[in-house]
Amino acid sequence: MKTAIYPGSFDPITLGHLNIIKRAAVCFDRLIVCVMVNSGKANTGLFVPEERVELIRRVVGKLPNVEVDCSNILLAEYARQKKACAVVKGLRAVSDYEQEVQMALINRKLNPRLDTMFLASGAKYTYLSSSVVKEMARYGADLSDFVPREIIDDINARMAQRRNG
Ligand code: ADP
Repeated sequence: MKTAIYPGSFDPITLGHLNIIKRAAVCFDRLIVCVMVNSGKANTGLFVPEERVELIRRVVGKLPNVEVDCSNILLAEYARQKKACAVVKGLRAVSDYEQEVQMALINRKLNPRLDTMFLASGAKYTYLSSSVVKEMARYGADLSDFVPREIIDDINARMAQRRNG
């Protein structure tokens, strides 16, 4: 059984992420989408990690071989525990490349059984990031081209809460 991990912040999940998830799910028997908790910025997100997991679960619910998890340990170690052979990464632009290749090499050094597979971002989504979504939401823009429709209300509600509190 071939297991892959798709790690990220997913604050929140976007249509760009979902595109990568659907394509990667076809390539592996099991795909684990993992919200990685970076200790340095644990409390600075729009959603806490558990909420991000819940939003992703809602969106990938119909994909039978996709699981959603959350972790605060090193990715290479997490992959070892899950017996994963690959990490999946989406590449949007050359600007993603340098850092992603560095991470891939470090992860392989830490866990020689782990390879990183890069999927080119879907053409429609190369401009999209969670930060762009948050910026749009802050100004009340229509989010339907950016995030799955099941989570639009949650994002708008959280933004409204932030504005009022
Ligand atoms: P963001 O930059 O949106 O905050 P994350 O840290 O959650 O992204 O990213 C997790 C993974 O998804 C990374 O491999 C990142 O390159 C990839 N990714 C993010 N947005 C897109 C997109 N629009 N298209 C393809 N891959 C993406």
